[in-house]
Amino acid sequence: MIENVIIIGGGPAGLSAAIYLARADLKPLVFAGSPPGGQLTLTSEVENFPGFESILGSELIEKMRNQAKKFGAKIVDENVIKVEFSNESHKTYLTNKTYNSKSIIIATGAKALWLNLPSETRLRGKGVSACATCDGFFFRGKTVAVVGGGDTALEEALTLTKFAEKVYIIHRRDFFRASKIMQERVKENKKIEIIWNSSVEEILGDKHVEGIKIKSDKIGQGQMKSEKKPIPSDSIQLNPIISELKVGGVFVAIGHKPDTDLFKGKVEVDEKGYIKIFERRRTSVKGVFVAGDCADPYYRQAVTAAGTGVEAALEVERYLNEN
Ligand code: NAP
Repeated sequence: MIENVIIIGGGPAGLSAAIYLARADLKPLVFAGSPPGGQLTLTSEVENFPGFESILGSELIEKMRNQAKKFGAKIVDENVIKVEFSNESHKTYLTNKTYNSKSIIIATGAKALWLNLPSETRLRGKGVSACATCDGFFFRGKTVAVVGGGDTALEEALTLTKFAEKVYIIHRRDFFRASKIMQERVKENKKIEIIWNSSVEEILGDKHVEGIKIKSDKIGQGQMKSEKKPIPSDSIQLNPIISELKVGGVFVAIGHKPDTDLFKGKVEVDEKGYIKIFERRRTSVKGVFVAGDCADPYYRQAVTAAGTGVEAALEVERYLNEN
């Protein structure tokens, strides 16, 4: 039996595609992974998905799944372990079964990188976040910390200044890798203070974030590099300083990794592993389309993922009609 379309990924991109394809009577088969749901299931409240003033991420996913099933999509909560793409038909392997399909939508998402501290895992959704656009609103009037020194970290810090009273950027070096314009904006923002040469050792708090423990290797904190005299070598701390900072939230912004290992060598990916889009959601292989964060290093929002899922679904529908 050959399926019309297999969707790999059960986050907002995959499920939005499933809703559209099911309503087009194409009986999509979704492999949603195990555990299913993607990044949204790791957040607590979502307040920026149109139509929902406030909803738990896991509840939003559940609603999307039910909506897709109602129109005839089949959702299987298993992981795909291998794929083989060819122009004729595509093979998708689960542990015990192989499926053939005329088309594929890859919607496997991306994962935020974390510091891998036990306290960070424990307090995720309780003051620890990887998305200021999603969660910044909850930190109105508070002091928060952002970890990282790339464009994402600086953008997160600037976003947070709209809500928070004060924003610390904790960075492990004495220079940022972020673009110059972002550095200038951060420099001009009075709410932001930078703590250089420092790493977060522990996130403090029982039920929610109350502070962070940071380890600083060198003197020279709190100044932008351009304003700072070079750090004299004798100022390097032989015994790093451990200090505590009171904050109500911690935003980890140290990069993302697209979940695309399965597709390396099967479709073209860029140097960071994001799947390359060749015109209108198509990948480098005929009949294989892509949606959501696995092809998006910039926006990474549930709504944008859902939107690209719809685009991919419409392209699949067109493709199946033409072929
Ligand atoms: P990135 O450029 O890879 O930066 C990651 C930052 O996190 C680096 O400063 C890195 O430190 C730090 N880091 C990594 N692992 C760490 C750890 N374990 N502990 C502490 N710090 C750690 O990632 P990104 O900022 O997410 O940006 C990804 C890409 O998207 C970039 O090309 C960026 O330009 C682009 N982007 C663009 C925009 C925009 O144009 N508006 C916005 C966001 C992102 P080191 O510096 O020491 O390596």
